Amino acid sequence: MTTRTSTQRYGCTIVGGGIHGTYLAQRLLEDAPFERSDICILDPHDRLLASFREKASVCGMESLRSTFVHHVGTDPFGLERFAEATDREAELVPTVDYPPRPSLELFVDHAEHVIDRTDLESLHRQAIVDAIDDRPGATGLRLETTAGPIDTDYCVLAIGHGGRLRWPDWATDLEHVDHVWEGFDPDASVDRTIVVGGGITAAQLACALSETQSVALLSRHPLEWAVSEADPPWINWSHIEANLHTLPPGSSDRFDVVSDARHTATVPPYLYEEFADRTDDGALTLTQGAVESATVDDGSVRISLDHGLQLLGDRVVLATGFEPVFEHPFVDRIADELDLARGYRGMPVLDDETLAWQRDDGGVRPLYVSGALALGTVGPYAPNLPGARRAGDRITAAIERDLRRSGADETGTSACDTGVSD
Ligand SMILES: Cc1cc2nc3c(=O)[nH]c(=O)nc-3n(C[C@H](O)[C@H](O)[C@H](O)COP(=O)(O)OP(=O)(O)OC[C@H]3O[C@@H](n4cnc5c(N)ncnc54)[C@H](O)[C@@H]3O)c2cc1C
Repeated sequence: MTTRTSTQRYGCTIVGGGIHGTYLAQRLLEDAPFERSDICILDPHDRLLASFREKASVCGMESLRSTFVHHVGTDPFGLERFAEATDREAELVPTVDYPPRPSLELFVDHAEHVIDRTDLESLHRQAIVDAIDDRPGATGLRLETTAGPIDTDYCVLAIGHGGRLRWPDWATDLEHVDHVWEGFDPDASVDRTIVVGGGITAAQLACALSETQSVALLSRHPLEWAVSEADPPWINWSHIEANLHTLPPGSSDRFDVVSDARHTATVPPYLYEEFADRTDDGALTLTQGAVESATVDDGSVRISLDHGLQLLGDRVVLATGFEPVFEHPFVDRIADELDLARGYRGMPVLDDETLAWQRDDGGVRPLYVSGALALGTVGPYAPNLPGARRAGDRITAAIERDLRRSGADETGTSACDTGVSD
C-alpha cells in the first residue's frame, strides 16, 4: 500500500491540466528559470487535455473554430509546420473570410506531439486540489490535494469553467435527460433526440445526430451566427488594455464590457450549410421557445413550451454549458481562506499586469489565474485558446521577474522529495 509521508514542494504548481495548464507549463519551462522538477501540473484525469478530448469527441466536432495559429504549442506556426511535416495540409480547412482552421484530429495530434516532445506528461500528477492555504511558517502556498499536501512558491489556477454543468430546473431529476458533457452516449440507438441549447455545441451536436436520427433543436433565442468567440482585436493586449483595463478592476463595467464583447451562444457560419441541408431534408428542426414543463410518459420525454408547442423525444441532451466559475465553491473556498478580493458577481480581482489575484488589503499572494476565471483582466478570449497565450505572457513574465528579484537560484526550488513510501 502507498502512504504519503511528507509534503512535496515545487517552484510552480498549476491547478488544471487542460489547454491553459498545458500551455502555461511550456511557457514556464521556456521563459522562466525553472527546472522541469520545479513544475507540477495537478489534474484528476489520467492524462493532460483529457477533458478537452472527451468533450470534443462527443459533440460531433470535426474542426476547430479557431484558426491554425491557435493551439497548445508556444510557436504560433508550430501546428502548420506539423501539418506540413506529416503531409496533412489538407486538414487545414479553408474558411470563407477567415484563415484556415485545423481539423479536430490534426489539432489533437499536434497537441499530443507537443506534449510528447517536451514530455509534459511527466509533470502531471493525477490529483484534485481541494483547498489552498498559506504555507505554514514560510512564504508560498500549501495545496491540500487528494495526493497529499503540496507546498509551492507559485501557483496558477487553470481550472477552466470548473466543471459544474448547467442543468435547467425543469430537467433536474427527469429521466432520459443527459448533459452532453456527462453521461451522454452519441451512439445510443434512438429515433428522436431533443437537443437543448443555442450555441456552437448544440448546433454541432444537432447536425451530427441528425445523420442517424430525427433531431429537434430547442433554443431560447434565434440562432446567431458569428465567426469567432469575440472580435479579433480582443486577442491583443493593447486592445484589452485600452478597453478593459481603463475600467475599475472587478467592476460591473468590466463585466458588462466582456459580456457584450463575447459572442456567447453563437454558431460559426461554416456550420450554416450543413445545418440548412439537415433542416431542408427534414432530419433536423429548429424550435425557439422557453420550457414551461417537461414530463416522461411511456419512455418518451414531452417538453411543453411557453407558446403552447410541445416537443416529443426519446431523450433530451442538454448543451447548456457550465455554471459560472466565479461562483464555484472551490473558488469561494480559496478566496475565503486567502482573503482574496472579489468583484461584481464574484469576479476575482486580478492585478492587470501580472494576473496575480489581489488580496482584500491590496497585497498579492503568489497565486495567478488563467482561463475563464481571468475574464475580467484577459477579456472575452480569456477562456479560449488565444486567452491561454495572453495569460501565459503575463503570468510567466511576472513569475520570472519575481524569481530574478528574489534570487532565482535560491527560490527556484526543486521538488524536495516524492513524498511517497511503500
Ligand atoms: C467541442 C469544443 C470545441 C472548442 N473549440 C474551440 C476553438 O476552436 N477555439 C477556442 O479558442 N476554444 C474552443 N473551445 C473552448 C476551449 O476548448 C476551452 O475554452 C478550453 O479547453 C479551456 O481550457 P482550460 O484549460 O481553461 O479548461 P479545461 O479544458 O476545462 O481544463 C481544466 C482542467 O482543470 C481541472 N480541474 C478543475 N478543478 C480542479 C481542481 N480543483 N484540482 C485539479 N484539477 C482541476 C479539470 O479537471 C480540467 O481537466 C472548444 C471547446 C469544446 C468543448
